[in-house]
Amino acid sequence: MKVALITGGNRGIGRATVEKFASNGYIVAFTYNSNKLQAEELVKKLSFSQNIVVAYQCDVSSLASCQNVASQIINQFKHIDCVVCNAGISISKPITDYTQDDYASIMSVNARGVFNTVKAVVPYLISSKSGNIIALSSIAEQGLSCESVYAMSKGGVVSFAYSLAKELGLSNIRVNCVSPGLIDTDMNSQLTEQERQTLLDKCLIKRIGLSQDVANAIFFLSQASYITGINLAVDGGLIL
Ligand code: NDP
Repeated sequence: MKVALITGGNRGIGRATVEKFASNGYIVAFTYNSNKLQAEELVKKLSFSQNIVVAYQCDVSSLASCQNVASQIINQFKHIDCVVCNAGISISKPITDYTQDDYASIMSVNARGVFNTVKAVVPYLISSKSGNIIALSSIAEQGLSCESVYAMSKGGVVSFAYSLAKELGLSNIRVNCVSPGLIDTDMNSQLTEQERQTLLDKCLIKRIGLSQDVANAIFFLSQASYITGINLAVDGGLIL
């Protein structure tokens, strides 16, 4: 059976991705950072249908934490076929209000977290000369007011993925990005109704995106054996 590792799998887009891979016969290893109960509830829910789903605590801003998870997966399941670098945070404020701590928090999860996750798994992928990595960027990487540092972190994810696609193709490893638009998760819970409506007005598909919409795209890329080095927008046409 194929094995997928999904970071930040207990809620939001990560959770829908865990469900998508599990329902397609994958062994799913997912991580959570602080919401242990939610992770345990998801494992319980999915294990009812004879899926193999395991949850690990992991702070992606720590390389040791990511390496610990990767080695546990290899010990238990022997290989990793797909890695989804999904864990992320956002802090929305004007640049004048951004603090050094805000900057450090965003970069340590969204940029260093992707680096750490890749660093932890890539030796196993290279030695098996197979696998694929999908990193969550955002349409914010094209520039979004009051999301400047978040946008910087997500732009970095795209550049990182493009570079890895070039570097790891020789090892038969594909690397792609998915860039969601406005998706209905906790991350957007602070948006006012007016802010939501302004974004929705720009969407060609006149509804907010669902976590499942993004999970479908992630799963598609995981199966797309001749696609590497792309950044797939899943945004209902928001940026066209
Ligand atoms: P949520 O806020 O719903 O969930 C975030 C997930 O990341 C949780 O599982 C959380 O775990 C985990 N996480 C947070 N900090 C850490 C950390 N330090 N180490 C490990 N895990 C951590 O996010 P979404 O589902 O909305 O977003 C998922 C990804 O998609 C993110 O990378 C986000 O930037 C990106 N994205 C989302 C968009 C949206 O509209 N929602 C739009 C564009 C991109 P825990 O619950 O345990 O804290």
